[in-house]
Amino acid sequence: MTRDLALLPKGHLHLHFEASMRPATLRDLAAEAGEPVPSWADFADFTDFEAAYGDVLRLIRRPEQLERVMTEMADDAQADGVVYVEVTLAPVLHAALFDGSAAAALAFLLAAAQREEERTGVVIRAMIASARTMSVEQAVEDARLAAEHADRGVVAFGLHADERGFPAAPFVDAFRIAREAGLLITPHAGELVGPESVREAVEVLRADRILHGIRVIEDPELTAQVARLGVCLDVCPSSNVVLHVVPDLERHPLPALLAAGVTCSINADDPVQFGPNVGEEYELARTRLGLTDEQLAGCARASITASGAPEAVKARALAGIEAWLAS
Ligand SMILES: [Zn+2]
Repeated sequence: MTRDLALLPKGHLHLHFEASMRPATLRDLAAEAGEPVPSWADFADFTDFEAAYGDVLRLIRRPEQLERVMTEMADDAQADGVVYVEVTLAPVLHAALFDGSAAAALAFLLAAAQREEERTGVVIRAMIASARTMSVEQAVEDARLAAEHADRGVVAFGLHADERGFPAAPFVDAFRIAREAGLLITPHAGELVGPESVREAVEVLRADRILHGIRVIEDPELTAQVARLGVCLDVCPSSNVVLHVVPDLERHPLPALLAAGVTCSINADDPVQFGPNVGEEYELARTRLGLTDEQLAGCARASITASGAPEAVKARALAGIEAWLAS
């Protein structure tokens, strides 16, 4: 007897909004723009992937297209048994559609999220993320915008894009603004750069969660520290394979991280570019990484407890996870 993973209540904590797009939607946007469909699941490296992400972004030319992506994101979450999405937004990237106003872009996206939450019952909150490759000043501006929306749908502040040559420490002021507003601290780290990047996220930024973070495994002492602190790693196995962070799924360190006592959630990162959505990632974790149902339920539990979800949502989801395990 196999428990149905679609019935396991879960949070989705590492999902970049634009890349939550369905492949069919991407093809529609490309056709409408008269542009080629951006490349998919075949990247030489992270730089190649980032360029393709830029191609996806450039196809979004009308606010209604953002609404379509939000609607389909909520429907896909519901189908995967996701009860809570903490979607990564970078409003500055859509400011051009709103007379140059990132605040207007954010207001539009949060209103769309609210409507989809009411329609589907999937609770949606936002993480605002700055890019390491943009300026520190931009990050401070992003953090202020996030802080202003701390009680209006934004629950976390993150940092993404290429780690190589772009350390996190210069962004400490932006993260201080976010922390003082009560937001979760959720940078990407330990993906393209090793344990020193995770150490910076933990010790300098004082991360509550780390998106990816898997390369902490290269340093057993730091791994033990991350486990002890209860910092949750929002792990995305297929992303790590497609971007050559790990050689193949079978050698993904998620089982080793769990064995070391590290709190981990399972996520899709950029499904339109990497393939699987979060439900399939749980299936892969079962079939290819050999996670037991107890471990899968543990990852689902982490995706709820480490999230910015409202307490009532957490309580309901945690009870659902126990019921799934008991089934
Ligand atoms: Zn990511």
